[in-house]
Amino acid sequence: MPGDEMSSGGESAEQPPIDEKADARDELRALAGRLRANLSLRARSGLAGVPAGRSRRRAPAVVEGRDAVAALAVAAPGGADGVTVAVFEKGTEAPATPLRPTGLPGLQLAREELGDCQRCKLAKGRTNLVFGVGNPEAHLVFVGEGPGADEDAQGEPFVGKAGQLLNKMIEAMGYRREDVYICNVVKCRPPGNRNPEPDEIEACEPFLKKQLAALRPRVIVTLGKFAAQCLLRDETPISRLRGNFRTYEGVQLMPTFHPAYLLRDPSKKKETWEDLKTVMAALRHMGLGPSAGAP
Ligand code: URA
Repeated sequence: MPGDEMSSGGESAEQPPIDEKADARDELRALAGRLRANLSLRARSGLAGVPAGRSRRRAPAVVEGRDAVAALAVAAPGGADGVTVAVFEKGTEAPATPLRPTGLPGLQLAREELGDCQRCKLAKGRTNLVFGVGNPEAHLVFVGEGPGADEDAQGEPFVGKAGQLLNKMIEAMGYRREDVYICNVVKCRPPGNRNPEPDEIEACEPFLKKQLAALRPRVIVTLGKFAAQCLLRDETPISRLRGNFRTYEGVQLMPTFHPAYLLRDPSKKKETWEDLKTVMAALRHMGLGPSAGAP
Protein backbone atom coordinates (compact mmCIF):
# COMPACT_ATOMS: atom_id res chain seq x y z
CA MET A 1 0.00 0.00 0.00
CA PRO A 2 1.63 3.31 -1.06
CA GLY A 3 3.11 5.29 1.79
CA ASP A 4 2.45 2.51 4.24
CA GLU A 5 5.61 0.42 4.08
CA MET A 6 6.77 -1.62 7.04
CA SER A 7 9.20 0.30 9.23
CA SER A 8 12.82 -0.79 8.87
CA GLY A 9 14.10 1.05 11.94
CA GLY A 10 16.55 -0.63 14.30
CA GLU A 11 18.87 -2.25 11.70
CA SER A 12 22.58 -2.16 12.54
CA ALA A 13 25.91 -3.56 11.23
CA GLU A 14 25.73 -6.34 13.84
CA GLN A 15 22.24 -7.38 13.00
CA PRO A 16 21.34 -8.52 9.49
CA PRO A 17 18.46 -6.47 8.07
CA ILE A 18 15.20 -8.13 8.83
CA ASP A 19 12.89 -8.63 5.87
CA GLU A 20 9.90 -7.27 7.69
CA LYS A 21 7.66 -7.48 4.66
CA ALA A 22 8.40 -11.19 4.34
CA ASP A 23 7.85 -11.59 8.10
CA ALA A 24 4.52 -9.82 7.82
CA ARG A 25 3.52 -11.99 4.89
CA ASP A 26 4.44 -15.17 6.80
CA GLU A 27 2.57 -13.97 9.85
CA LEU A 28 -0.41 -13.09 7.69
CA ARG A 29 -0.33 -16.50 6.01
CA ALA A 30 -0.18 -18.28 9.38
CA LEU A 31 -3.02 -16.20 10.80
CA ALA A 32 -5.13 -16.71 7.69
CA GLY A 33 -4.63 -20.47 7.98
CA ARG A 34 -5.66 -20.47 11.64
CA LEU A 35 -8.64 -18.26 10.92
CA ARG A 36 -9.76 -20.54 8.08
CA ALA A 37 -9.43 -23.62 10.30
CA ASN A 38 -11.27 -21.85 13.11
CA LEU A 39 -14.15 -20.72 10.92
CA SER A 40 -14.52 -24.12 9.34
CA LEU A 41 -14.61 -25.69 12.83
CA ARG A 42 -17.28 -23.22 13.90
CA ALA A 43 -19.29 -23.78 10.71
CA ARG A 44 -19.37 -27.48 11.56
CA SER A 45 -20.26 -26.81 15.19
CA GLY A 46 -24.01 -27.07 14.67
CA LEU A 47 -24.64 -23.41 15.34
CA ALA A 48 -28.01 -22.46 13.86
CA GLY A 49 -27.80 -19.81 11.18
CA VAL A 50 -25.72 -19.88 8.04
CA PRO A 51 -25.63 -17.33 5.28
CA ALA A 52 -28.59 -17.94 3.00
CA GLY A 53 -26.94 -16.30 0.04
CA ARG A 54 -24.92 -13.36 -1.09
CA SER A 55 -24.61 -10.58 1.42
CA ARG A 56 -25.98 -7.17 0.60
CA ARG A 57 -23.51 -5.63 2.99
CA ARG A 58 -20.66 -3.43 1.89
CA ALA A 59 -17.55 -5.40 1.06
CA PRO A 60 -14.90 -5.03 3.73
CA ALA A 61 -12.05 -2.69 2.93
CA VAL A 62 -9.07 -4.40 1.34
CA VAL A 63 -6.06 -4.25 3.62
CA GLU A 64 -2.51 -5.15 2.86
CA GLY A 65 0.83 -5.83 4.58
CA ARG A 66 0.96 -4.62 8.13
CA ASP A 67 -2.64 -3.41 7.86
CA ALA A 68 -3.78 -6.86 6.94
CA VAL A 69 -1.92 -8.45 9.83
CA ALA A 70 -3.43 -5.94 12.22
CA ALA A 71 -6.87 -6.28 10.75
CA LEU A 72 -7.06 -10.02 10.51
CA ALA A 73 -6.91 -11.68 13.86
CA VAL A 74 -5.02 -12.16 17.06
CA ALA A 75 -4.68 -15.25 19.13
CA ALA A 76 -6.49 -15.02 22.41
CA PRO A 77 -7.61 -17.63 24.89
CA GLY A 78 -11.21 -18.71 25.02
CA GLY A 79 -12.03 -19.80 21.49
CA ALA A 80 -12.89 -23.38 20.59
CA ASP A 81 -9.33 -23.85 19.40
CA GLY A 82 -7.81 -21.01 21.40
CA VAL A 83 -8.32 -18.39 18.72
CA THR A 84 -10.73 -15.53 19.14
CA VAL A 85 -11.08 -13.11 16.29
CA ALA A 86 -10.38 -9.53 17.21
CA VAL A 87 -10.38 -7.05 14.36
CA PHE A 88 -8.43 -3.86 14.77
CA GLU A 89 -8.98 -0.58 13.07
CA LYS A 90 -6.93 -0.23 9.92
CA GLY A 91 -3.93 2.00 10.12
CA THR A 92 -3.59 1.98 13.88
CA GLU A 93 -0.16 1.10 15.30
CA ALA A 94 -1.44 -0.36 18.53
CA PRO A 95 -4.68 -2.27 18.61
CA ALA A 96 -7.63 0.05 19.11
CA THR A 97 -10.52 -1.23 21.19
CA PRO A 98 -10.99 -4.70 19.78
CA LEU A 99 -14.12 -4.83 17.69
CA ARG A 100 -16.32 -7.89 17.77
CA PRO A 101 -16.78 -9.72 14.51
CA THR A 102 -20.13 -9.30 12.79
CA GLY A 103 -22.36 -11.61 10.76
CA LEU A 104 -21.88 -15.33 11.17
CA PRO A 105 -18.54 -15.16 13.04
CA GLY A 106 -20.08 -12.66 15.47
CA LEU A 107 -23.05 -14.93 16.09
CA GLN A 108 -20.75 -17.91 16.50
CA LEU A 109 -18.65 -16.00 19.00
CA ALA A 110 -21.75 -15.02 21.01
CA ARG A 111 -22.93 -18.66 20.95
CA GLU A 112 -19.51 -19.81 22.09
CA GLU A 113 -19.51 -17.30 24.93
CA LEU A 114 -22.95 -18.48 26.01
CA GLY A 115 -21.58 -22.02 26.10
CA ASP A 116 -23.37 -24.56 28.29
CA CYS A 117 -24.99 -21.67 30.10
CA GLN A 118 -25.80 -22.12 33.79
CA ARG A 119 -26.17 -18.40 34.54
CA CYS A 120 -29.78 -18.64 35.72
CA LYS A 121 -32.26 -21.13 37.09
CA LEU A 122 -33.81 -21.85 33.66
CA ALA A 123 -30.74 -23.91 32.74
CA LYS A 124 -31.79 -26.79 35.01
CA GLY A 125 -35.06 -27.39 33.17
CA ARG A 126 -34.00 -27.04 29.57
CA THR A 127 -33.65 -29.76 26.98
CA ASN A 128 -32.00 -27.46 24.46
CA LEU A 129 -30.69 -23.96 24.64
CA VAL A 130 -32.49 -22.01 21.90
CA PHE A 131 -30.03 -19.48 20.52
CA GLY A 132 -31.53 -18.19 17.29
CA VAL A 133 -31.99 -19.06 13.66
CA GLY A 134 -31.86 -17.40 10.28
CA ASN A 135 -29.74 -15.29 8.03
CA PRO A 136 -26.69 -13.80 9.80
CA GLU A 137 -26.82 -10.90 7.31
CA ALA A 138 -30.56 -10.28 7.75
CA HIS A 139 -31.69 -6.67 7.70
CA LEU A 140 -34.84 -7.67 9.59
CA VAL A 141 -34.75 -9.38 12.99
CA PHE A 142 -37.64 -10.66 15.11
CA VAL A 143 -37.17 -10.92 18.87
CA GLY A 144 -39.60 -12.99 20.92
CA GLU A 145 -39.85 -13.75 24.58
CA GLY A 146 -38.52 -17.22 25.26
CA PRO A 147 -38.79 -20.80 24.01
CA GLY A 148 -41.88 -22.89 24.61
CA ALA A 149 -42.10 -26.67 24.76
CA ASP A 150 -41.67 -27.22 21.00
CA GLU A 151 -38.74 -24.85 20.79
CA ASP A 152 -37.11 -26.45 23.84
CA ALA A 153 -37.50 -29.88 22.24
CA GLN A 154 -36.12 -28.80 18.85
CA GLY A 155 -33.58 -26.15 19.86
CA GLU A 156 -35.04 -23.64 17.40
CA PRO A 157 -37.14 -20.54 18.13
CA PHE A 158 -40.75 -20.21 16.99
CA VAL A 159 -41.39 -23.70 15.67
CA GLY A 160 -44.70 -24.33 17.51
CA LYS A 161 -48.15 -22.85 16.81
CA ALA A 162 -47.01 -19.28 17.48
CA GLY A 163 -44.08 -19.96 15.17
CA GLN A 164 -46.39 -21.06 12.39
CA LEU A 165 -48.25 -17.78 12.71
CA LEU A 166 -44.95 -15.86 12.77
CA ASN A 167 -43.95 -17.65 9.56
CA LYS A 168 -47.20 -16.47 7.96
CA MET A 169 -46.52 -12.92 9.11
CA ILE A 170 -43.00 -13.06 7.65
CA GLU A 171 -44.29 -14.48 4.37
CA ALA A 172 -47.05 -11.85 4.19
CA MET A 173 -44.25 -9.28 4.33
CA GLY A 174 -42.72 -10.94 1.28
CA TYR A 175 -39.86 -12.67 3.04
CA ARG A 176 -39.02 -16.29 3.69
CA ARG A 177 -38.26 -17.41 7.23
CA GLU A 178 -34.65 -18.01 6.21
CA ASP A 179 -34.24 -14.42 4.97
CA VAL A 180 -34.72 -12.93 8.44
CA TYR A 181 -33.23 -13.75 11.83
CA ILE A 182 -35.34 -14.94 14.76
CA CYS A 183 -34.34 -15.10 18.41
CA ASN A 184 -35.68 -14.57 21.92
CA VAL A 185 -34.88 -12.55 25.02
CA VAL A 186 -34.27 -15.69 27.09
CA LYS A 187 -32.67 -18.72 25.52
CA CYS A 188 -34.08 -21.41 27.81
CA ARG A 189 -37.68 -22.41 28.35
CA PRO A 190 -39.40 -20.95 31.40
CA PRO A 191 -41.17 -23.89 33.12
CA GLY A 192 -44.85 -24.29 32.27
CA ASN A 193 -44.52 -21.43 29.77
CA ARG A 194 -44.54 -18.89 32.58
CA ASN A 195 -43.18 -15.43 31.90
CA PRO A 196 -39.42 -14.98 32.18
CA GLU A 197 -38.44 -13.46 35.52
CA PRO A 198 -36.29 -10.32 35.89
CA ASP A 199 -33.16 -12.21 37.01
CA GLU A 200 -33.49 -14.57 34.02
CA ILE A 201 -33.87 -11.67 31.61
CA GLU A 202 -30.92 -9.93 33.22
CA ALA A 203 -28.72 -13.02 32.84
CA CYS A 204 -29.64 -13.58 29.19
CA GLU A 205 -29.94 -10.04 27.87
CA PRO A 206 -26.20 -9.54 27.23
CA PHE A 207 -26.33 -12.38 24.73
CA LEU A 208 -29.32 -10.91 22.93
CA LYS A 209 -27.35 -7.67 22.70
CA LYS A 210 -24.34 -9.53 21.31
CA GLN A 211 -26.56 -11.21 18.73
CA LEU A 212 -28.01 -7.88 17.66
CA ALA A 213 -24.55 -6.30 17.54
CA ALA A 214 -23.37 -9.13 15.28
CA LEU A 215 -26.45 -8.94 13.07
CA ARG A 216 -26.50 -5.14 12.65
CA PRO A 217 -30.11 -5.26 11.40
CA ARG A 218 -31.81 -2.24 9.89
CA VAL A 219 -35.10 -3.01 11.63
CA ILE A 220 -35.91 -5.02 14.76
CA VAL A 221 -39.47 -6.21 15.36
CA THR A 222 -40.11 -7.11 18.99
CA LEU A 223 -42.91 -9.58 19.64
CA GLY A 224 -44.82 -9.00 22.85
CA LYS A 225 -44.12 -6.94 25.91
CA PHE A 226 -40.97 -8.63 27.22
CA ALA A 227 -38.80 -8.08 24.17
CA ALA A 228 -39.94 -4.46 23.75
CA GLN A 229 -39.63 -3.58 27.42
CA CYS A 230 -36.27 -5.30 27.70
CA LEU A 231 -34.61 -3.60 24.72
CA LEU A 232 -36.28 -0.22 25.22
CA ARG A 233 -36.05 -0.11 29.01
CA ASP A 234 -39.63 1.06 28.96
CA GLU A 235 -42.42 -0.34 31.10
CA THR A 236 -45.19 1.11 28.95
CA PRO A 237 -47.79 -1.58 28.13
CA ILE A 238 -47.35 -3.22 24.75
CA SER A 239 -50.80 -2.01 23.67
CA ARG A 240 -49.38 1.53 23.80
CA LEU A 241 -45.83 0.75 22.66
CA ARG A 242 -46.90 -1.07 19.52
CA GLY A 243 -47.15 0.61 16.16
CA ASN A 244 -44.57 3.34 16.71
CA PHE A 245 -40.94 3.12 15.74
CA ARG A 246 -38.43 3.59 18.54
CA THR A 247 -34.67 3.31 18.36
CA TYR A 248 -32.48 0.70 19.94
CA GLU A 249 -28.73 1.41 19.62
CA GLY A 250 -29.48 3.50 16.55
CA VAL A 251 -31.62 0.78 14.94
CA GLN A 252 -35.31 1.23 14.15
CA LEU A 253 -37.35 -0.96 16.50
CA MET A 254 -41.03 -1.71 16.00
CA PRO A 255 -42.86 -3.20 18.97
CA THR A 256 -45.85 -5.33 18.05
CA PHE A 257 -48.02 -8.04 19.57
CA HIS A 258 -46.72 -11.54 20.20
CA PRO A 259 -48.08 -14.21 17.80
CA ALA A 260 -49.17 -16.34 20.80
CA TYR A 261 -51.35 -13.40 21.90
CA LEU A 262 -52.77 -13.17 18.38
CA LEU A 263 -53.74 -16.84 18.60
CA ARG A 264 -55.67 -16.03 21.78
CA ASP A 265 -57.15 -12.80 20.41
CA PRO A 266 -57.26 -12.85 16.59
CA SER A 267 -58.93 -9.41 16.55
CA LYS A 268 -55.44 -7.97 17.24
CA LYS A 269 -54.10 -9.32 13.95
CA LYS A 270 -55.29 -6.21 12.13
CA GLU A 271 -53.18 -3.86 14.26
CA THR A 272 -50.22 -6.21 14.00
CA TRP A 273 -50.48 -6.19 10.22
CA GLU A 274 -50.52 -2.38 10.31
CA ASP A 275 -47.28 -2.50 12.33
CA LEU A 276 -45.68 -4.88 9.86
CA LYS A 277 -46.78 -2.70 6.94
CA THR A 278 -45.09 0.25 8.65
CA VAL A 279 -41.93 -1.87 8.88
CA MET A 280 -42.17 -2.79 5.19
CA ALA A 281 -42.53 0.85 4.24
CA ALA A 282 -39.49 1.78 6.34
CA LEU A 283 -37.40 -0.97 4.73
CA ARG A 284 -38.52 0.14 1.28
CA HIS A 285 -37.55 3.69 2.19
CA MET A 286 -34.08 2.36 3.07
CA GLY A 287 -33.90 0.70 -0.36
CA LEU A 288 -34.34 -2.69 1.28
CA GLY A 289 -37.14 -5.21 1.45
CA PRO A 290 -37.75 -8.55 -0.22
CA SER A 291 -38.04 -7.08 -3.71
CA ALA A 292 -34.62 -5.46 -3.25
CA GLY A 293 -33.12 -8.96 -3.44
CA ALA A 294 -33.45 -10.77 -0.15
CA PRO A 295 -30.71 -13.38 -0.28
N1 URA B 1 -42.73 -17.79 21.95
C1 URA B 1 -41.60 -17.05 21.98
O1 URA B 1 -41.58 -15.93 22.49
N2 URA B 1 -40.52 -17.58 21.44
C2 URA B 1 -40.48 -18.76 20.87
O2 URA B 1 -39.43 -19.16 20.40
C3 URA B 1 -41.69 -19.50 20.84
C4 URA B 1 -42.79 -19.00 21.37
